[in-house]
Amino acid sequence: MGTSFDTIVIGLGGVGSAAAFALASQNVRTLGIDRFTPPHARGSSHGETRIIRKAYFEHPSYVPLLLRAYELWGQLECIAEQKLFHRTGLLEIGPSDGIVVPGVLLSAAQHGLDIEMMSMSEARRRFPGIDGDVAWSVLLERDAGYLNVEECVAAYLKHARLNGAELKTDEVVVDWQSRHGTVVVRTDKDEYHARSLVIAAGPWASETLSRYRLPLRVVRKHLYWYQGRTLGYRKDHGFPCYFYETPQGYFYGFPELDGVGAKVARHSGGDAVQGPIDGMHPVDADDQNLVEIFLKQNMPEMNLECRQTKGCYYTMTPDENFIVDCLPDAPNVTVVAGLSGHGFKFTSVLGEIAACLSSGRNSPCPIDFLSLHRFEGTR
Ligand SMILES: Cc1cc2nc3c(=O)[nH]c(=O)nc-3n(C[C@H](O)[C@H](O)[C@H](O)COP(=O)(O)OP(=O)(O)OC[C@H]3O[C@@H](n4cnc5c(N)ncnc54)[C@H](O)[C@@H]3O)c2cc1C
Repeated sequence: MGTSFDTIVIGLGGVGSAAAFALASQNVRTLGIDRFTPPHARGSSHGETRIIRKAYFEHPSYVPLLLRAYELWGQLECIAEQKLFHRTGLLEIGPSDGIVVPGVLLSAAQHGLDIEMMSMSEARRRFPGIDGDVAWSVLLERDAGYLNVEECVAAYLKHARLNGAELKTDEVVVDWQSRHGTVVVRTDKDEYHARSLVIAAGPWASETLSRYRLPLRVVRKHLYWYQGRTLGYRKDHGFPCYFYETPQGYFYGFPELDGVGAKVARHSGGDAVQGPIDGMHPVDADDQNLVEIFLKQNMPEMNLECRQTKGCYYTMTPDENFIVDCLPDAPNVTVVAGLSGHGFKFTSVLGEIAACLSSGRNSPCPIDFLSLHRFEGTR
C-alpha cells in the first residue's frame, strides 16, 4: 500500500498549482503530481503573458469568479512579494453589433464595471500605432492587463510546498480509481491513496478522464513576437493589451516588453490534434499570414519581421465554457477541464473552488453554468 493523503491533485499547471496551494494553505495533506516539471512549455500555461479582464464578453456569469480571481492574484503577489499582474488596460475593438463590444457592455452594465467607450479616431490619438475600421467601437477597460504566466505557476507551487504540500514532478499518472470514498492513484513510479482527488490535467484531460468521454477538443495555437518601428507599442509608453473582433476572426496582443518584443496571436482557428505532442509545434504559415495581415491593417507601425514563435494548446468544450464539477459517480473527484483558451486569468479562483469541492464544501462562487450536466445526452 502506497502513501496516504487527504487530497491528490493530478496536474500542477495553471489550475493544479493554484489548487495545491489552496489545499495546503487550509492544512489539507496534499500531494500534487505532474508528468513534467511545471512551469513547462508542453501544455497550456507558458508563453510569458496572459490577458486578465473583468467585463467578460463571453458571459456575465464569469464576472463573480473574476472579482474573486483578482483578489486571489493580489494575495499571491503579497505572499510571493512579486509583481504578477500588470495593469496596462485593455482595448476591445470591433463592430458595435458583433460579439465582443456588446458582450463587454452587457457584463459591465450588469456588474457595474468601469468601461470607457471611444471612437476609432480618439483611440488613434490616445494610443499612437493603433488602427482599425472607423466604424468599429473601441472600449477601454482600465482595470485589465496581463499576468506573468510562468511566474504565477511557479509562485503557487513554491508556496504550496512551503505550506506543506508534497509535489512530485516528472511522474506520470497512469491510472486512478475511486471506490467507497477512497481514491487510488497509480503513477509510473508509485501508488498513492487519498480521500479526494482533483483532476487538472489541461490538454491531457481526455486521456486522464477517458472513461467519462468528455466532449473536449484539443487545438494547437501559435504565438508570435514582433517589434515596433516606433516606441509607441511599448509598455513603458502606456500601450495597453488589445483584443480585436475582425471579419477574419479574433486577434489579441500585448504591449512590447524589453528584450522580448510584442506578442500577438489569433484567438480563433487552430488545428485540432489528438492531444499534446511533446515539444512539437510546426509553424502554421496560414495562421502567421493572418496575424501579419491583421498587424498590417491594425498595427501599421509594427515591423513584420517575426522574432520568435511558440506553440500552446487550447482544450475546447462545445460551448467554450469551462467544466468545473464533481464526477457524478465519484463526488470526491473534482474535475477542472476544458478552459477553452480563456482560463488562465481564472486559475487562482478555480484552484480555490477545486479545494472547496474536494473538501466537501460549496464553491465560494456560482458555478452551475460550468457543470457537467449540460453535456448530458451529447456524449
Ligand atoms: C496560446 C494561448 C494563449 C492564451 N491566452 C490566454 C489569455 O490571454 N488569458 C487567459 O485567461 N487564458 C489564456 N489562455 C488559456 C490558458 O492559458 C489555459 O486555459 C490555462 O493555462 C490552462 O491551465 P490548465 O491547468 O488547465 O492546463 P496546464 O497548465 O497545461 O496544466 C495541466 C498539467 O497537467 C499535467 N498532466 C497532464 N496529464 C498528467 C498525468 N497523466 N500525470 C501527471 N501530470 C499530468 C501536465 O504536465 C500539465 O502541467 C491561453 C492559452 C494558450 C495556449
